[in-house]
Amino acid sequence: MSLETNWEEFESMCLSCRKCPLAETRHNVVIGKGSKTADIMFIGEGPGEQEDIQGIPFVGAAGQLLDKMLLAAGFDDTDYYVANVVKCRPPKNRDPLEEEQNACMNYLRRQFILIRPKIIVCLGRIAAKAVINPDFKITRERGIWTERKGTYMIATFHPSAVLRDMTKKKPAWEDMKEIRRKLLEIREGK
Ligand code: SF4
Repeated sequence: MSLETNWEEFESMCLSCRKCPLAETRHNVVIGKGSKTADIMFIGEGPGEQEDIQGIPFVGAAGQLLDKMLLAAGFDDTDYYVANVVKCRPPKNRDPLEEEQNACMNYLRRQFILIRPKIIVCLGRIAAKAVINPDFKITRERGIWTERKGTYMIATFHPSAVLRDMTKKKPAWEDMKEIRRKLLEIREGK
């Protein structure tokens, strides 16, 4: 099946999707937010309670922390787009199951093709395992760039993990500054 699509078709596919059991308990399909021509795509694991209610990713406490860090690091709203590995909320915020991630992955691929970001930032272990490497170890491998077919990829702690454990705040902030540095480097190389 071709992954090529346009935004209208893509959004309509997501909104009507019932390919995995998360469709049974969701209130809204949470597709993404931000600039559709962004150079950076942030990817989290899945919507939480507030995201499910509002239909928008990263609007709860973790999203507010992410917004603050992005602003402090000097990013502009037009620099980034934010999405998740699964587009429907796992009940009680449990980790999305492998079969749910697999069912949803082609939507993320389509989103990537539509946006064509230069940088992918995985927020947390689940996204890093799904996108970068199934054996990814977030504590050991965060902050390290890899490149695949011209796209730079990196992982950092999920902002909700930072909220739970403030010792992660400093490394997460270092990662954010490094992502900003990389973005400027790529743009200067244009
Ligand atoms: S999580 Fe993804 S695959 Fe599952 S129902 Fe929602 S949109 Fe479809």
